[in-house]
Amino acid sequence: MKNEVVEDLEWCIEYWPDLIEARLPGTARPWRQPQLSPEAKLKRDWDARIDWALRTTHALGESPAPVDVAILSTALDLLVRADDLAADLGPVVMCPILAPPGPGELDARPYLRYAAARFAEGPEWLADGAEPTVRHIQQKIAQALCMVYDGQTLAVTCPWCSETGVWRVQTLPGGQVAIVCGGVCEPPQRDVGTWWGGQPVWPIAQWPWLAQRVMSAEEKVRRAREAIAS
Ligand SMILES: [Zn+2]
Repeated sequence: MKNEVVEDLEWCIEYWPDLIEARLPGTARPWRQPQLSPEAKLKRDWDARIDWALRTTHALGESPAPVDVAILSTALDLLVRADDLAADLGPVVMCPILAPPGPGELDARPYLRYAAARFAEGPEWLADGAEPTVRHIQQKIAQALCMVYDGQTLAVTCPWCSETGVWRVQTLPGGQVAIVCGGVCEPPQRDVGTWWGGQPVWPIAQWPWLAQRVMSAEEKVRRAREAIAS
């Protein structure tokens, strides 16, 4: 249980920036690529500048940009929960607690990291007690991201069926957020999260792993091309 809670927290830390970015419509990235291309980096820097401009010249709520209110309120709610989680842990493990977030601050990651570190070094029961809270935070982030990504086609090549543009983000029955490959695709059982309508499916918790698989498959293709060219 302890390891799962820490893993769930790490997932939340990884996807927190996506949630924050998703509150500005049109800035959503389909999923987290482990490496950014120079163009993607430029866009990111640009987004950060817009973000900075919005935060400093306008109070939240009176911003002229179309901020996605549902995502913003989810982010604020989760920030409060993450702060509470960390603040409740401090006295139990006799660790100094973090300062609460200041006005206009929307970063839950310091509190999530703090909690992850305490759980990793603490006894099993400590993580057990926080499991529902951590699960809730993870679910809410996943749901918010899916509001943005639902139906989106990803511009990647599936490492198993080698087709491009066949991955779609979908909400499956039961509200599970997942990537579904629409190709003629039969990955080995150990590589598939689950199946849906005969197609392989990877729930959002597996996306960091999935991104790694795509990157290493692309790397292999690149090296093969280089070998042919040389
Ligand atoms: Zn496929």
